Amino acid sequence: MNPLVIANWKMHKSVEESVRDAARIAELADVRHIDVGIAPSIVWQKAIHGTLHGTGLLTVVQDAHSEPSGAYTGAVSFDQLAPFSDMALVGHSERRHVFGDSDELVALKAQAAQRAGLRVVLCVGETREEREVGDGESVVRAQIASVLDAVDANAVEMLDVAYEPVWAISGGDASVEPATTDAIAAMHSFIRSFLRERVGESHDRIRVLYGGSVKPENAMEIFAVSDVQGALVGGASLDPESFVQILEAVPTC
Ligand code: PEP
Repeated sequence: MNPLVIANWKMHKSVEESVRDAARIAELADVRHIDVGIAPSIVWQKAIHGTLHGTGLLTVVQDAHSEPSGAYTGAVSFDQLAPFSDMALVGHSERRHVFGDSDELVALKAQAAQRAGLRVVLCVGETREEREVGDGESVVRAQIASVLDAVDANAVEMLDVAYEPVWAISGGDASVEPATTDAIAAMHSFIRSFLRERVGESHDRIRVLYGGSVKPENAMEIFAVSDVQGALVGGASLDPESFVQILEAVPTC
């Protein structure tokens, strides 16, 4: 499978900025050997889907409600977004730690997104405190297990995982450092073994991305780590040129 790199624009950019920057990325990115996604603010999903139409780039949902429809004022469902989307993030650390999404709710969202026909990128990662007491692997294992327990056996082929240690996510602060390559290698190897144990041969249909302060300066080093099959990029994806430099660091074979 191609590596996958996603720009997560969070609650940034007006519609004009989003359309302009998505068009610029589409113009500069070489998508022959990489799957490239853009996750705009949900209100611009339709506009960005139109901008990316025919370019080979993917439109990604940042988050949505776990129900397909209903009396949920202010909410939007994966079903409503599916006509304008190819993939969906679930369980991003800001959803878990700012909005309180539990492992159980994340699993329901993964099911809902897949039922709407979207490939799911399940975001997982431990907090600094969890890591310091030695719980990193068990936290990540529980986050993945709750989704694997919930989705159909054949739906694992519509799943990717993004390992994003909470303490390495920049939140727009350029001074935050990514995890060390040793730490990334150790957790990606753990996730790969767990996926192999849980889903057997299909594990190689699941890409494991790294996220957390990926920038043009460190992307090549991070992509060289074994078991890293792409990246989820926040802050450094806001500038199209910087995001394209990250894409250019992906090894093409
Ligand atoms: C993210 O929010 O998914 C992320 C990885 O952000 P950043 O690249 O800014 O650390």
